[in-house]
Amino acid sequence: MDLDVLAIRARLEQMRREYQETLRSTANDDREVARDVATSDDLDTGDRVDDADQIFETDREEALTLQARDALAQVEEALARLDHGTYGTCLDCGRPIDPRRLEAMPQAQYCLEDQEKHERSATDD
Ligand SMILES: [Zn+2]
Repeated sequence: MDLDVLAIRARLEQMRREYQETLRSTANDDREVARDVATSDDLDTGDRVDDADQIFETDREEALTLQARDALAQVEEALARLDHGTYGTCLDCGRPIDPRRLEAMPQAQYCLEDQEKHERSATDD
């Protein structure tokens, strides 16, 4: 396999920083929302969040936070696989993942074929 492991590690570490930053900033946003609610004219609402926009905003942020957490976990797993020398093989079939795929998506856990299987089963209802 012809992988530039150092470059991949550097990219994964950069991605990890970005996701950690995303998680920190959404945590800050939560505090700001709480303060906005507390200083609004309608103090009776308190921590009762029954405004539709507010709920939408909270859901969106939760979705973003979950997304960033998932992505961060994937990046951290990829870094762990680099440490253990198991990086670049598909978790399902054990075959080497296409290096071009890893270049485009260094946190990839599966070969393209298995990734598609997982995406299909994830969207199946
Ligand atoms: Zn596979």
